[in-house]
Amino acid sequence: MSRTLVLNASYEPIAVVASRRALLLVINGKASILSESDRIVHSVTESLVEPDVILLRQFIRIPRRSIPLTRRAVLEMYDYTCAYCFKHGNTLDHVVPRARGGTNTWGNVVVACTKCNNKKADKLLSELGWKLPFELREPAPNLATLISQRWKEPSWAEFTEPWRNHPLELAG
Ligand SMILES: [Zn+2]
Repeated sequence: MSRTLVLNASYEPIAVVASRRALLLVINGKASILSESDRIVHSVTESLVEPDVILLRQFIRIPRRSIPLTRRAVLEMYDYTCAYCFKHGNTLDHVVPRARGGTNTWGNVVVACTKCNNKKADKLLSELGWKLPFELREPAPNLATLISQRWKEPSWAEFTEPWRNHPLELAG
């Protein structure tokens, strides 16, 4: 079955649906075609070109979904940058050490280089006089990233690429 990429009215990619369903959205006036596929559907009375990408006419709010905390997700979120010295890092550090009650959540995990990680060990930041340069938070759920990972459609890349996750901006 052929598929169509659905963009929110803001042009953010939000879904992939069966092309027939996308065509119905267009026929019902809920979406417009941004680019057509080379596939043609024949009905009793006419032939229609299936859309490759459609744009919703009305903006719809997408509920936030959380991104699972995995080693790779954290490394990519912080762009392999040590939270303490800003050099390349590829280990994870619990800001409040697990041995001292720290949780394994987005609110307590950063990337650290081996040197800083060893230095920090089971200490608190206050004990070392260190400070985090940013607030810890969960990454914004990004449907464009999920869609582009799952569907490797070359013609969709120009619509998903601009919306993919960017590394956290450092405060101050
Ligand atoms: Zn470091």
